[in-house]
Amino acid sequence: MNLKTKTSQIDLTFERLTMTLRHPFGISYGTSATTDNVLVKLRYGDLIGLGEASPASYHSESLETVNAVLSMIKANQSEILGDDPFAVQMVTKRMDKLIAGNQSAKAAIEMAMHDLAGKVLGVPVYKMLGLSGHPQPMTDYTIGIDDLYMIERKTREAVGEGYKMLKVKLGTTYDEKIIDKVRSNAGDLPIRVDANGGWNVKRACHMAGFLQDYKVELIEQPLPKNTSVSDFRFVKENSPIPIYADESICVSSDVAKMAPGIDGVVVKLAKTGGILEAMRLIGVARAHGLGVMFGMMIESSIGVTASCQLQSLCDYLDLDGALLLKDDPYQGAQYKDGYLMLSDLPGLGVTLRSS
Ligand SMILES: [Mg+2]
Repeated sequence: MNLKTKTSQIDLTFERLTMTLRHPFGISYGTSATTDNVLVKLRYGDLIGLGEASPASYHSESLETVNAVLSMIKANQSEILGDDPFAVQMVTKRMDKLIAGNQSAKAAIEMAMHDLAGKVLGVPVYKMLGLSGHPQPMTDYTIGIDDLYMIERKTREAVGEGYKMLKVKLGTTYDEKIIDKVRSNAGDLPIRVDANGGWNVKRACHMAGFLQDYKVELIEQPLPKNTSVSDFRFVKENSPIPIYADESICVSSDVAKMAPGIDGVVVKLAKTGGILEAMRLIGVARAHGLGVMFGMMIESSIGVTASCQLQSLCDYLDLDGALLLKDDPYQGAQYKDGYLMLSDLPGLGVTLRSS
């Protein structure tokens, strides 16, 4: 294959991608019934690379900031995106020079670049990265914050639909009742919890002991994101359950400071700004002896499948974003018996849903 015969500018278009949730989704920051993401398309000759931005207000992003950043990239696309679909790292450097932060907007471009590069080569992204596509580990399915009646209904529904592992959102005044309700309806299914920073040190220590009796396997982000490492360390030393940091760690340079206070990190493309920095973050976390969970925002199959390319590097997967949606317009990694199955299609392996 002569890759040099085909050169054209990479052209960016983007549009709002609003999707409806199966159930209103509650976390300690608030509840939503729909999710407003941004679909990115990078055209290179006949090929289109797909990406998705999923802004979160608690990471200082919104639909407006994503649109503003993508408009800036569009206005400078010949300099930033150029004409080489393999120049993924250079594109990320140029975006970082253009504007700091705004990781979910940058992640959308970066995953679309990987999609394009894989499509030009005719190979799946995970193969291009030298990784296994073997479905491992299992992903969980999230039960959002709700009243106890709905918690019971959602848990029964999840168990009835065959989900093998649950993640439960906490950070309320009635967390003990939520977990009791979930455990009593979930049998022996593995359960992990995410407080989204909803506890203080005292409550986190209490909850860690309480949750052990309910066989909870890990606690995500017990304390608010700007909490000191010494407070995290106090909770970790008093918790019989591993403590993972999500909001407190976005990129690889955040790890060293937090490492003494945690047992693991939650990696998300919307925080790292893309696949390359996610791999660096995983490498740095491993160098500090930390566990790795790969998570996501509420995203379509584009975001799920992009994240899933790195599943073989992780201990835990929390890639249920598309499972929580009623109207995902795309299909990619398929959920089967707890695992996410990647296809052999080139690039990310995402196509428009046929039905
Ligand atoms: Mg989390």
